[in-house]
Amino acid sequence: MAQAKKALSRTTKKSARAGAAGGNGTKGGARAASKTYSNYIGGEWVAAAGGEYFENVNPADTRDVVGRFPVSTAEDVNRAVAAAKAAAEGWRRMPAPRRAEILFRLGNILIRDKDSHSADMTREMGKVLKETGGDVQEAIDCTFYTAGEGRRLHGYTTPAEMPDKFAMCVRQPVGLCGLITPWNFPMAIPSWKLIPALVCGNTVVIKPAEDTPLSTYNLVKACEEAGVPKGVVNMVTGYGAAAGKPLTEHRDVRLISFTGSTETGRLIAGACADRNAICSLELGGKNVIIVMDDADVDLAVEGAVWGAFGTSGQRCTASSRIVVHKKVYKKFTQKLVERAANLRVGDGANANTDMGPVINAAAVHKILGYIEVGEKQDGAKLATGGKRLTTGAHANGYFIEPTVFTDVAPDMRIAQEEIFGPVTAVIPTNNLEEAVEIANGVRYGLSAAIYTQDVNRAFHAMNDMYTGIFYVNSSTIGAEVHLPFGGTKATGNGHREAGTQVLDIFTEWKSVYVDYSGKLQRAQIDEVSFE
Ligand code: ADP
Repeated sequence: MAQAKKALSRTTKKSARAGAAGGNGTKGGARAASKTYSNYIGGEWVAAAGGEYFENVNPADTRDVVGRFPVSTAEDVNRAVAAAKAAAEGWRRMPAPRRAEILFRLGNILIRDKDSHSADMTREMGKVLKETGGDVQEAIDCTFYTAGEGRRLHGYTTPAEMPDKFAMCVRQPVGLCGLITPWNFPMAIPSWKLIPALVCGNTVVIKPAEDTPLSTYNLVKACEEAGVPKGVVNMVTGYGAAAGKPLTEHRDVRLISFTGSTETGRLIAGACADRNAICSLELGGKNVIIVMDDADVDLAVEGAVWGAFGTSGQRCTASSRIVVHKKVYKKFTQKLVERAANLRVGDGANANTDMGPVINAAAVHKILGYIEVGEKQDGAKLATGGKRLTTGAHANGYFIEPTVFTDVAPDMRIAQEEIFGPVTAVIPTNNLEEAVEIANGVRYGLSAAIYTQDVNRAFHAMNDMYTGIFYVNSSTIGAEVHLPFGGTKATGNGHREAGTQVLDIFTEWKSVYVDYSGKLQRAQIDEVSFE
C-alpha cells in the first residue's frame, strides 16, 4: 500500500506517512472526488508553475482526501513576491482607517462562515469541533481587535531639546512580509500574522503548513471577498523546503514571521540573518502547571486534562509537565489518570469525541518514540495510555491514547523535550521554591500556571517564573488576542504577537524632527541662551 501511494508521487506529508506508519491507505474513489485548489497570486487563482498537486488528507481517516493543493516552488514564490511588491505602494498609501474598514468586512465574513470553516478545519487537522470553532473565533477576534488599530497605530510626540523645533515618531510599514505558518492553529495563527501585517500597511505572501492549507485558503478567500486589493495578500501552498525556503531567502522579502518547530526556526533565522531581514519566531514550549498543597485539586485536574489533552497535546502551550506538591500528589494523580483514561478518542467531527487524532504518521512515530523513552530510558511510571489505537473506528487514523507518566524526575527527557502529543509528565515536589526551580529548568519559556488558594504564593510564582505567559488557577492554554503572546528563552527571539505589541513586528519607527526656527540648530553642540 505504501508503495502504491509513493507511485502517485503526489502525496502530502499526511498521506505519504499514512503508508509508512501502516495506516490502512486510501480509496481511489475518495481521491477522485476531492476538490482541486489553487494558489492566490496578484488577485488570481492559479496553479503552481510545475502543475503538481499534493493531497490534504483527514488525519482521523486517511481515506478521506480533503483536497488537492498546488506543490509550489521558487518560481511560484517569485511570482507571488513580485505581485506583493507591485501592490505595496498603493496599499501603503491607503489611509490605515480605510485599510481597517476592509478588515472589519473580513471579520464579518468569517463570522458568517464560522461553522463551515470549523468543519473544514476538523476535517483537515483533526481537533474536535469545539476547538476548531475556537480557532476560527480567535481569527475573528484578532481581525476585529487589530482592525481597530487602523484608527490608532499610535506614535508619540516629545519635546525637542532646541527651541522652535518639534519632535515626534511615527510607525511605518516594514514592507513585504513572508508569513510561514504551522498546522495546529491553521486559521488563528495565520490571522495573528496576516491581520496586523495588513493594518500596518504591508503586503504579504503566506505559505501555510502542507498539512492544513484549506483553513488558510478559507481565510485568503475571505480577504478577497472583503475587498483586499489584488496583490496585497498572496498565498502559495506546498512543502517547507520547496516553497517556504525560497520565501525566506528572497531579497525583496523584508520580514519573515514564522511559527513552527525550533529546528525550522533556526534555519529561518539563519536565512534572514544572511540579508539582514527582520525575523520573528514563535517556537516550542515545555509548559508547566504547578499544583500546590492548598490547591482546589478538582479544578487543577480539570485544568491539567484540558491543558495536556486539548488539541491532542499539539499546542505550543500544552501542559506537558505538572509539578505537584507531595501532600496532594496521590490524590491529584489518581484523579488525573482516571480522567485521562476515560477520555473518548475519535474523529473530532463526532459530537461525543473528547480528543481527536494527531496530525500525521510522523507525529505518531515521534510521540510513540517519546513514550518508549519515558518507559525504557527515563524509567518513569506509565500510569495510563501509551499506545496507538488501530482497530475499529480508529483503524484509518492517527490516534494515540491520552498518556500520563507519573514519578517523573525533572531532568528526564520526557520532562525536558517538547513531545507535541497527548503525553504529560507528573513530577512530585516538596515546596514552592523547588517547584519554581523545576518549572524554570527547561530550555523553553512559553507558558506556566499555578493552582493555589494563597495569593502570596501566586504572586511569588508569577514573579519568579521566566515565561511569556502565566496563569493563576487556570491551565497553560487560553491566550486572548488583546494580550501579547510569546515566550522567553528558546521559545522565540524576543518578539510578541497579538496585543498592540505585534505592531512592533510589522512596523518600523520613524523619528521626525521639524525645525521651524529658520536657522541651523545643532543638537548636542549649540549652546542655547534663553535670556
Ligand atoms: P512541523 O515539523 O510540525 O511540520 P515545521 O516547523 O517543519 O513543523 O513547519 C512549520 C512551517 O514551516 C510549515 O509551513 C512548513 O512547511 C514550513 N517549513 C518547514 N521547513 C522549512 C524551511 N526550511 N524553510 C521555510 N519554511 C519551512
